[in-house]
Amino acid sequence: MACMLLLASPCMAEMLDLSALGDIEEAQTFEEEAPQREWTYPISYELLTTSDYIVLANRESLLDESFVPDDLVKDLSCRKISSTPIQMRQTAADALCALFDAAQADGIYLYAHSGYRSYRTQKTMYYNRLEKNNSKDDGVVAYPGSSDHQTGLGIDVINKDGIGKKFTTAFGQTKHGKWLAEHCWDYGFIIRYQQDKKDITGITYEPWHLRYVGVQVAQYMRDNHLCLEEFTQEWKEAVAEYEAAER
Ligand SMILES: [Zn+2]
Repeated sequence: MACMLLLASPCMAEMLDLSALGDIEEAQTFEEEAPQREWTYPISYELLTTSDYIVLANRESLLDESFVPDDLVKDLSCRKISSTPIQMRQTAADALCALFDAAQADGIYLYAHSGYRSYRTQKTMYYNRLEKNNSKDDGVVAYPGSSDHQTGLGIDVINKDGIGKKFTTAFGQTKHGKWLAEHCWDYGFIIRYQQDKKDITGITYEPWHLRYVGVQVAQYMRDNHLCLEEFTQEWKEAVAEYEAAER
């Protein structure tokens, strides 16, 4: 009884080993901070920090003039309309073939039209467009370094009616465009430039332009209705928060 009273007295701390008290405090601090270190974002930290399929190319995030993917196929093996070979990164090219096969099984015949474009080609296209448009950038041709086509993951897709014609947003209303908008995600593609995201992407609606990001990311973007700019901001914030908590 006398011993219990002694421990409960204000002098208790003096009687304890101070180094042991330090250990207790450290342990408590660790417990309080631990939840912040948990990775709660729906896509894994590893995928986000190692995948180069989620690269963002836009006016604010320009690809270097020397950027050329090292795994481009020489020419797509799926249905295409082009007088020159169409290149894409290997994984994206394979995914496009799988997408076209699935479309065909539903009676939808798609054609690849334009894939990888070098910085130099994009630059020529951009300045040609400016020349035709009284030196005004109308957002139709991407600024050099900002094109999705330079990533080797972007592809323009058309139907038979579109062969030899200009791309128009009416493609989005065809059965081909509707099929793509519904199914592309399950093959790792997104509709890169959506109608209601123009203010964020800075590019007009392009229902024909697909961009490979990988199945998990594409489905996540579909489910949360995010464009690549929004997704990039979101995951980069999640990574920064996690890494700051780790220190
Ligand atoms: Zn395109």
